[in-house]
Amino acid sequence: MPSDNNYPHLFQPLALRGGVTLANRFMMGSMHTGLEARPDGMPRLAAFYAERARGGAALIVTGGFAPNDAGELGPHRAQMSTAEDAERHKVIPAAVHAAGDARIVLQILHSGRYGYHDRIVAPSPIKAAINPNTPRELTAAEVEQTIEDYVRAARLAQSAGYDGVEIMASEGYLINEFIAQQTNQRDDVWGGSFENRIRFPLEIVRRTRAATGEAFIIVYRISVLDLVEGGLTGEEIVTLAQAVEAAGASLLNSGIGWHEARIPTIAQAVPRGAFAWATGRVKAAVNIPIVASNRINAPEIAEDILARGDADMVSLARAMLADEAFANKARAGDRAAINICIACNQACLDHYFIGQSVSCVVNPRAGRETRLAFVPAARRKSIAVVGGGPAGLSCAAIAAERGHAVTLYEQADELGGQFNLARKIPGKSEFAESVAYYAERLKRAGVKLKLGGKAEAAELAGYDEVVLATGIEPRRPAIPGIEHPKVVGYVDVLSGRAQVGRNVVIIGAGGIGFDVAVYLLEKDGRSPLESAAFNAHWGIQDDLKTAGGLAPGGIPPGHPGLRITMLKRSSGPFGATLGRTTGWVHRAELARNGVKMVKGVEYRRIDDAGITIAVDGAEQTLAADTIILCAGQDPRRELAAGLQAGGPPVHLIGGAKEAGELDAKRAMLEGAQLAAAL
Ligand code: NAP
Ligand code: SF4
Repeated sequence: MPSDNNYPHLFQPLALRGGVTLANRFMMGSMHTGLEARPDGMPRLAAFYAERARGGAALIVTGGFAPNDAGELGPHRAQMSTAEDAERHKVIPAAVHAAGDARIVLQILHSGRYGYHDRIVAPSPIKAAINPNTPRELTAAEVEQTIEDYVRAARLAQSAGYDGVEIMASEGYLINEFIAQQTNQRDDVWGGSFENRIRFPLEIVRRTRAATGEAFIIVYRISVLDLVEGGLTGEEIVTLAQAVEAAGASLLNSGIGWHEARIPTIAQAVPRGAFAWATGRVKAAVNIPIVASNRINAPEIAEDILARGDADMVSLARAMLADEAFANKARAGDRAAINICIACNQACLDHYFIGQSVSCVVNPRAGRETRLAFVPAARRKSIAVVGGGPAGLSCAAIAAERGHAVTLYEQADELGGQFNLARKIPGKSEFAESVAYYAERLKRAGVKLKLGGKAEAAELAGYDEVVLATGIEPRRPAIPGIEHPKVVGYVDVLSGRAQVGRNVVIIGAGGIGFDVAVYLLEKDGRSPLESAAFNAHWGIQDDLKTAGGLAPGGIPPGHPGLRITMLKRSSGPFGATLGRTTGWVHRAELARNGVKMVKGVEYRRIDDAGITIAVDGAEQTLAADTIILCAGQDPRRELAAGLQAGGPPVHLIGGAKEAGELDAKRAMLEGAQLAAAL
């Protein structure tokens, strides 16, 4: 029974110009899926977006498509520039329209100086810090032609059946590069004064409106906060927004930060809904609706943003990757059934940046809609799943939903496994959402839980199938003196069982070593959980009086009350194994707190004096009152040996199968794949 009253603002229709009405306030924001340029991409995207349309999103924005060759993001072609492109796209709007009343718009993205190929162009030939290639300056005739290419892309999108386009004008791509003085040093009509610099986007909007008619949706993704030196001030952003409205846009969507900004904008360290204030500043100055975005991952956050009057609509991109039916579940008031995006970026953005198609850690079926099917089981089997961490949770839920009789054994008193440790890390509390979600899913699917005791091999022998998701055992390296009382394991530290002194050495610098360092630095409440504290922590000036919203002193240094040294034996850079789009945030946190890092280390001994190491043969002793082991893990699978040959088939997944390079992404995917096949 729908109960819109749970979130009254979210389920109001939204009227746009041209007589268009959106069914509710949920936009699925644009994200690159990695399918845009693949030969089989269009049908897969059609299935992907159709599921989100059925799930209740009122407006969907596709990933970015370039209006011409120079505007490509990478070496593979993802354009909307020819009649053939439009023809190939037709399956996407057709599938979305067949799925209900959702509208879908094509994002037109010209990468400007951010493109990773040798044909990149920009208003001026100024290299971006994040790209080794220098762009070629566009001639005046090419600027004109580029505007026409945007218009052509919009007309082709219209002919393909799209309801509109989103003009991508944030995140530091070509349009930003025209608007910001820092990147536009032209002296023709497209450069110089602010009025000249905003002419390029205004002409795109004006000509697109003239070419496509009143009822075509034109979303303009405006950068409401640039977060780079030489970015716009608040006053300039408002002037631009008003001019875009006058030029004919239907809807403004918010972009936060250029890609080269050194302040996190979507990582877990960013509080939920942290940037809605920047959208609210623009909303107060325009008459067309505006969409808030970034870290809006729960319906109560979305509802609050609308109720406060900061925005008219909310954009959820990763949140709708994690749960395609997010909006429908919110409408039904079923918050507990929503699979919340934990902002890890591991299977979405990190995949995209290494050329893989995107998926989701907590929803492995995302992006695999046509490949991973959970169909009712032909025969109901009795299945024991041993281990209630990410792999076991994923496997047990799906196997039970397929109709099997599933019993889940967990040695601890609660479900969650490694997620229960991860959620202790400042900025990673979102992991608690996944544990709660899966626990609820197990309950609804009728999984029998056996918590707080070890599963015995004899008991498991009576099942049709046994799944061992028993996880990992932290490694204890064979260093002389490892038994010294000052040596503790990371599990003891994160669970609060170990006392940690003020002079700390961490052995191992993988994901967990970094997490433990952040935990020690921020566990005493210095972690910025609120938007205002976050802004202060990262040097964001929320009155936007300065260019780009950056505080004059830059990012403030940390004031750690403890000294931390991280050690590793290998010689590569620290943090190289961290997430591609999130690792830099951890590195920045540790750098600002003066954490020392030593590589190429040989461990000699641990004693009362501390830890003695050798680097290039030279010995030194590091004084330490606590030495924390973060030296990786080994699989925990002693049960496998106890299960007799001739007993039920035994399946190993997650850390129990392979501990090296283990992460939640692989664990949950293996759980889902096995559950689909049982
Ligand atoms: P890990 O990433 O494999 O790192 C283990 C660390 O221990 C390495 O720095 C390694 O460095 C060191 N090490 C390994 N064997 C050792 C030995 N015998 N003696 C001394 N040092 C040893 O493992 P983890 O940090 O435990 O993380 C587990 C998994 O969770 C990883 O896949 C990780 O990516 C994931 N995770 C990721 C994040 C994140 O990205 N933020 C956070 C938490 C966990 P040397 O071999 O150079 O000494
Ligand atoms: Fe969210 Fe992580 Fe899933 Fe990406 S992979 S959608 S960040 S939960």
